[in-house]
Amino acid sequence: MATLDSKASAGEVSVEERLQALFDLQKVVSEIDKIRTLRGELPLEVQDLEDEIEGLETRLTNLESEIKKLNDNILAKKNEIKDAGLLIKKYEAQQSNVRNNREYDSLTKEIEFQTLEIELCEKRIREFTAEMKTKSEIGEASRKQLDERKGDLAAKKAELNEIVSETQVEEERLKSKSKEIETRIDDRLLTAFKRIRKNARNGLAVVTVARDACGGCFNKIPPQRQLDIQLRKKIIVCEYCGRILVDGQM
Ligand SMILES: [Zn+2]
Repeated sequence: MATLDSKASAGEVSVEERLQALFDLQKVVSEIDKIRTLRGELPLEVQDLEDEIEGLETRLTNLESEIKKLNDNILAKKNEIKDAGLLIKKYEAQQSNVRNNREYDSLTKEIEFQTLEIELCEKRIREFTAEMKTKSEIGEASRKQLDERKGDLAAKKAELNEIVSETQVEEERLKSKSKEIETRIDDRLLTAFKRIRKNARNGLAVVTVARDACGGCFNKIPPQRQLDIQLRKKIIVCEYCGRILVDGQM
């Protein structure tokens, strides 16, 4: 038979008292669990939103500096066009003062070269402008997303604060109550309780027998075993799930 620390010697706390303490502790920690479930995923959701907002803000800062760089590039290309234009004017003026055809042709080549430079600059300006437009659009979408997330964050934080303030006093009261009950339970049993609780999906380490079944895993408990549980002379655990069993009248 599966039991936990079965005998209580004279002068020690009786098994029944220990079972009662375990069951009391279970009820209190279950209340704490309920509060935490109520608070639920909110702290995590708040954290996720804060991370997302930080990411969006970084993206926007990067986009702004990229757009500024493109703008500087465009200005530089415009200056190059201006310089090339001045050179062309200069060469054209020189062409009216040439001594021979060779000099004239050479100036014509220079003018052609500067004209090509201007075309190249204009092409680059169109490329930079298109790139700027794309980045501005991404920036606009990111800014919109950022505003939305900031709104979400404010709402979640308000929700969380409300739940925390509503439940904080109650949680503190339950925590000190559970500490007080823990002093009534020996270390070995308390360790077992915590271990079983940790492994149990619903946080239940102590369960009652209900409709001839374990209240934790709902497997049937044989009548003889139920009698043993009712006698409260031994600490009996469920042979299927390992939870500590108490009778429903406890
Ligand atoms: Zn069970």
